[in-house]
Amino acid sequence: MVSGPGADIYRSLGVKPIITASGSTTAYGGSKLRPEVKEAMDKAAGTMVNIDDLNRAAGKVIADITGAEAGFVSSGSAGGLILQAAAVMAGNDPAKMKRLPDPTGMKNEIVIHRSHRFPYDQCYLATGATFREIGDGRRCHPWELEDAINENTAAVAYLFSNFLTRRALPFEQVVEIAHAHDVPVIVDAASYVPPRANLKRFIAQGADMVQYSGGKAVRGPQGTGILCGREDLIEAAFASASPHQFIGRGMKVSKESIIGLVEAVQLFVDEDEEAETRLYTSMCQQVVDALIEIPGLNINIEHDAYDYLTPHAVMKFTNDWRGPSRDETFDAMVAGDPPVYLHNIHHPDELAVDPFNLEAEELDIVIRRLREVLLGH
Ligand SMILES: *Cc1c(COP(=O)(O)O)cnc(C)c1O
Repeated sequence: MVSGPGADIYRSLGVKPIITASGSTTAYGGSKLRPEVKEAMDKAAGTMVNIDDLNRAAGKVIADITGAEAGFVSSGSAGGLILQAAAVMAGNDPAKMKRLPDPTGMKNEIVIHRSHRFPYDQCYLATGATFREIGDGRRCHPWELEDAINENTAAVAYLFSNFLTRRALPFEQVVEIAHAHDVPVIVDAASYVPPRANLKRFIAQGADMVQYSGGKAVRGPQGTGILCGREDLIEAAFASASPHQFIGRGMKVSKESIIGLVEAVQLFVDEDEEAETRLYTSMCQQVVDALIEIPGLNINIEHDAYDYLTPHAVMKFTNDWRGPSRDETFDAMVAGDPPVYLHNIHHPDELAVDPFNLEAEELDIVIRRLREVLLGH
């Protein structure tokens, strides 16, 4: 059983608390909010403020942390991608802003690598944009990007995401080509922190707008996002966003959420990343130690600069494996009490434990249950 006052609140509605060993997965709760953030939100919730004033002040904090000219607290990264598209299409022109998602009279093509098509790209299309795809899904040549850019191009989109990024042209090359044609580059790096250095990296490399999630590794309010970039484009995003009555109005961020994000991101950048990595590595090592002798299962700690940005204990179900299949294992972990959600998105023959959302006692439960399920007792 998951315990604590939070567990009781959910149980009173008949909802089972879970253990999230999959990282900051939105569907499994995102991340645990920092105590300091809860306190700041609690205070902010009881005091009234002009939302535009608050958004501008929060934007300055984001600009400072990211090294961008300006910033904005969006409604998740998904909401921020809609604002990115609105900004590059309609700019700050109210007549155009009001017309969206009808893109008449606007540049409305977003160039995107085929290898970067992903479930969230529908957010870009929500503004009436259309995609012009480049590359064949495995790789892309610079001339394909050159060829795709035309007088109707609103932006080039670029995705930083585990296992996908490197199938595209290198980011700096994309920036160089797009900027030579005066086309902005908009970036989704929602889950690409830590490393904390990534909060500055893409802006420094020439991105015009970059999006990060506030409710994932940053441990801010689950519904928030961090949008940063060029002054004029952020100004346009601000203009299209709630509380203004344009396409972003459906993606309201509350005053206490804005305060919560500001508090969370400041705490996040001040944390000791090496200590964090050591902690996650030692937690992963416990998983490895508990499962290493099970025949047919390969278990390793993965941690690299592109795909596993923080340490994960990755289990590979090899040809010699005789126990429950990878999918049966995942399902059996979910079917137990408490339900345990493992990381399952990257490879069809792998499952992983991401310690990000686990307390020590929860890790113990995960390990015990994994041994029960894998060893069949
Ligand atoms: C999580 C994620 C999103 C959506 O972020 P939210 O903050 O949950 O709205 C968008 N793009 C990518 C690559 C993501 O990983």
